[in-house]
Amino acid sequence: MSPQAARKAEPASRPMVQVHRVSKIYPGGVEALSGISVDFPEGQLTSLLGPSGCGKTTLLKIIAGLIPATSGLVEVDGKTVTGPGPERAFVFQDFALMPWATVMRNVAFGLELKGVAQSEREAVAEKYIASVGLKGFERAFPHELSGGMRQRVGLARALCVNAKVLLMDEPFSAVDEQTRRKFQEDLLELIAREHKTFLFVTHSIEEAVYVSDRIVTLSRRPSQVSSIVEPQIARGRDPDQIRRDSAYLDTVETIWQSLKRYLD
Ligand code: ADP
Ligand code: MG
Repeated sequence: MSPQAARKAEPASRPMVQVHRVSKIYPGGVEALSGISVDFPEGQLTSLLGPSGCGKTTLLKIIAGLIPATSGLVEVDGKTVTGPGPERAFVFQDFALMPWATVMRNVAFGLELKGVAQSEREAVAEKYIASVGLKGFERAFPHELSGGMRQRVGLARALCVNAKVLLMDEPFSAVDEQTRRKFQEDLLELIAREHKTFLFVTHSIEEAVYVSDRIVTLSRRPSQVSSIVEPQIARGRDPDQIRRDSAYLDTVETIWQSLKRYLD
């Protein structure tokens, strides 16, 4: 059995992230989220899909502890979120790398903040740089890398701190279609290898169906959970085969039907 198939066969896992009736009204009055309740199971990849501006990034930031909810609460591994914490790592859409620092320093930055000694943090960083396919680029600077490579640096940095929960906000949106497909493959491999809980925001229905165990769709803002879909796709096969599979195509169609009513 392939590692990806093994992931699907796991028994129902406990919720790692629990969102309880979370609402968010920004100062100025924009109501982004309206009483959202949803669980994110441990060891699975759950995607958030929804119309542009519906509050996906807002929800991810609240879970990360970067901004407060107006009401409601979030629990991670049973503990109420009151701010950022080492068990959660955020992979930003725009990479958020330090342009003046090497790949090594960028990747090891989370450990540097934790006060881990240089030799130790560089050993850990080296491992993750290699695991995202950037071996040999340790001394390069962000401007010397392609968009796809910069995104890998962001991912390696998030992996380095050994968080239980990886929050990924449209991580592949800034790269071209071919790189994006390669990333999707890499992500599936990574999930099979690392037992982590992934919360993945994307605006691509196809991408969500391809990489996810569960897909949570959100309505237009102030958003609420619209549907929860668990694609029943047999993985561990050729990617092109999966994209022609009837379960894959049916799931894409079902989600499209449920989301298209939110388009203007
Ligand atoms: P998504 O990621 O789904 O595209 P966002 O979470 O970024 O949506 O935004 C949801 C809504 O909240 C949008 O209408 C956006 O303009 C608004 N918004 C986001 N951030 C802020 C902010 N800091 N202040 C006021 N409004 C904001
Ligand atoms: Mg967003």
